[in-house]
Amino acid sequence: MMPRAYPVGTGWIEVVCGCMFSGKTEELIRRLNRARYATQRVVMYKPAVDTRYASDDVVSHSALRYPCRPVRDATEILRLVDDAQVVGIDEAQFFDNSLVDVANRLADDGRRVVIAGLDQDYRGVAFEPIPQLMAVAEYVTKTLAVCMVCGAPANRSQRLVQRDDRVVLGAADTYEARCRLHWDPERFDPRQQRLPLDDE
Ligand code: ADP
Ligand code: MG
Repeated sequence: MMPRAYPVGTGWIEVVCGCMFSGKTEELIRRLNRARYATQRVVMYKPAVDTRYASDDVVSHSALRYPCRPVRDATEILRLVDDAQVVGIDEAQFFDNSLVDVANRLADDGRRVVIAGLDQDYRGVAFEPIPQLMAVAEYVTKTLAVCMVCGAPANRSQRLVQRDDRVVLGAADTYEARCRLHWDPERFDPRQQRLPLDDE
């Protein structure tokens, strides 16, 4: 029997994870575009809470876009997925742990599930449900950004504003990619303490 790079006739889960700006969304869009070129039925979902750029597109920091359907919770994906063969999910850290069951159900049904999300929060703590998804996934890719201080590979998200909430939506004005040496969750840019955010 010929060895195969990917399973045939079965589904599987791919996780793409890393810090902010590490190219997770770019990689997710790249994989979904390739599936589209292969004439597969592809759908993309993201949590409705992520309204940073557009509500019905997934948009990378480099302005790549892919149309998506915002959903309020992971179980909504099961209701909407219909006959899609490839299911993309971005910003998976904004879903709760029910996403693990949902992803398993989709893959058990024979679909390819590609999930992108932050693996650590701004304090460097594992950001569920990504660790649980990594455990059940067939394929895990860790993406690295570039440290904004020294240019080394970066694995952490430095929050530049002083907020204690685990989730503060933002991009380059609120977060920076940093390497282990230059990341410090207790340090923020004092000039940005009063940066107005969405909820103010
Ligand atoms: P993620 O989804 O992981 O937050 P994106 O895929 O949206 O990342 O964006 C990746 C893009 O972000 C890069 O191709 C680059 O254009 C831009 N970028 C901005 N800051 C950085 C950085 N510090 N390191 C790497 N890429 C960066
Ligand atoms: Mg992203």
